[in-house]
Amino acid sequence: MKFEHYGIGIAKGLTVTIRHLFRHPVTVQHPEQRLNTSRRIRGNELVWSRDRCTGCATCAKTCPQGVIQIVTSVDLVGNKYEVAKYEVDTGYCISCGLCVESCPYGALFMGYAYERAKYRRNELVQGKEDMMLESGKKQPSGYFYPEIARELPRQTLLVERITEKA
Ligand code: SF4
Ligand code: SF4
Repeated sequence: MKFEHYGIGIAKGLTVTIRHLFRHPVTVQHPEQRLNTSRRIRGNELVWSRDRCTGCATCAKTCPQGVIQIVTSVDLVGNKYEVAKYEVDTGYCISCGLCVESCPYGALFMGYAYERAKYRRNELVQGKEDMMLESGKKQPSGYFYPEIARELPRQTLLVERITEKA
């Protein structure tokens, strides 16, 4: 077994630490600073269009997790279904995107958001009001919708910052 003089290991460790002190940081101070995520992110929420949805329930039937619940009533005047309830339990959603791909009316989108940590599980259930495109508060992801992806900001890659500095 080889023994080193006392303190050499500490000195080596400190050298590494000091070297890193003078390097430019390659992380960001979230949440004050934010990176642009992928334009086609399958974020941890869904965005739903009240105006386009016909209540056909294709999305609910496609979902492998069975986490989409739709309740409709018949609107005899408008001769269509009225969507009384549209709810997704994102706590069980695996962000596979199948519901988005299956919607025949382009009424469902993966969300662009990724900051939805909650203290309680039941707060992960998204109701109509929480996911409505027409509220103007929800940004759909460009996943499955290239025309939306084109409008979103380019993804920020930390590796590019490192390369630029070098
Ligand atoms: S598949 Fe589309 S149109 Fe049909 S219920 Fe789902 S979101 Fe609405
Ligand atoms: S993304 Fe997948 S798991 Fe989540 S609601 Fe849609 S089909 Fe279901």
